Amino acid sequence: MGKTVSCKDLGSISCTWQGRAETEEELVQLAMAHGREAHGMTEFPPELMNELRTAIKDE
Ligand SMILES: [Zn+2]
Repeated sequence: MGKTVSCKDLGSISCTWQGRAETEEELVQLAMAHGREAHGMTEFPPELMNELRTAIKDE
């Protein structure tokens, strides 16, 4: 079973990105890469990481 998360789940109204990976760790890495590339994020504070992990769903 895979894991998915979308930018919408994290409060973005304009971004339609959705990530999918086999493990939570992989998906977290994907989401961070997306944040850097698409949203110009340079920092990932612990609150954001918590929010991200909470938003991850089983497929
Ligand atoms: Zn996004």
